[in-house]
Amino acid sequence: MRTHKIAAIGADGIGPEVINAGLEVLNTLARVDGNFAFEVEHFPWSSEYYLKHGHYIPEGGLEKLKQFDAIFFGAVGSQEVPDHVSLWGLRLPIAQGFDQYANVRPARVLPGVKSPLRNGEAIDWVIVRENSEGEYAGHGGRAHRGLPIEVGTETAVFTRAGVERIHRFAFELAAKRPRKHLTLVTKSNAQRFGMVMWDEIFAEVAKDYPEVKTDRELVDAVTTRMVLKPQTLDTIVATNLHADILSDLAAALSGSLGIGPTANLNPERQFPSMFEPIHGSAFDITGKGIANPTATFWTAAMMLEHLGEADAAKKLMAAIEAVTASGVHTPDLGGKATTAQVTKAVCDYLGK
Ligand code: ATP
Repeated sequence: MRTHKIAAIGADGIGPEVINAGLEVLNTLARVDGNFAFEVEHFPWSSEYYLKHGHYIPEGGLEKLKQFDAIFFGAVGSQEVPDHVSLWGLRLPIAQGFDQYANVRPARVLPGVKSPLRNGEAIDWVIVRENSEGEYAGHGGRAHRGLPIEVGTETAVFTRAGVERIHRFAFELAAKRPRKHLTLVTKSNAQRFGMVMWDEIFAEVAKDYPEVKTDRELVDAVTTRMVLKPQTLDTIVATNLHADILSDLAAALSGSLGIGPTANLNPERQFPSMFEPIHGSAFDITGKGIANPTATFWTAAMMLEHLGEADAAKKLMAAIEAVTASGVHTPDLGGKATTAQVTKAVCDYLGK
């Protein structure tokens, strides 16, 4: 019996609802398969925990997390805590502390789901986001607070090592996809230093992957291409900030923010990787039992893949797609189903 140790951090808003749904599906898969099992530990780290204790992650918390095979994460963000405090308090210390530099975000219009695109074009993209530096390196400061001469700086930090490893990762991934196509997204017309370095290193790495077709796009131009010519894109590599924005657009174009999954990978496996839906806490629907758990199920499939359970990952994706195709949809997809009903439908399919 293979046992996978999972750290579950539901955190804020609908996070715990979708993580519990995801664990139900994972446990069903394990039961039906019979050859692997999950050992799950729940961590109560959230904004509520922060308000009570003054920190999201207690002393020694990251050391404890290190012992797990993967982290299954819900969402962080609360109306009572400024967003930059919650993000830097919980998600970023894990992603940066565990050098999860490759953030992989697939986007696809699942069967039975309607894309807002005019002609219902097929979308099948993977966005690779640099997840350890760039605009979110945390480099900057403020001086003369509150005075008319106040200054705030936010410096993007790009290192050769950081840029090269994300490009290499993106090329490896693109090479494994049927279309073998990689689009580099930067803003190297207006930003002459770090972005031009991104372009140059991309060209260098490309030489090692002659089988991958490449092209380049500025970040503003790629938004129109995503909407008007979505079929011309396949794998996309972009900076931390650019890919963050593009993947929300990708999720919306795939039908809902409730569908998009993400994997924060430490490809060298020195640390556990983290799997989460791309959506946030969604206060407007928290506690109503109508959060779409599909993004979390899909990210669970990515987690299975990472844990070496490729067959189970395939089974889970097939179950997710069978359920979206059958029309059991939560309200964000225009349906009336609850989180529990979608979860049950996926579990029933897996149990067949
Ligand atoms: P963040 O800043 O943390 O990324 P956000 O405030 O930009 O979050 P979300 O909290 O993700 O955005 O919510 C944006 C909208 O999408 C809300 O109207 C929310 O209800 C909807 N939404 C997000 N996730 C889901 C989901 N899983 N199921 C249904 N609707 C969702």
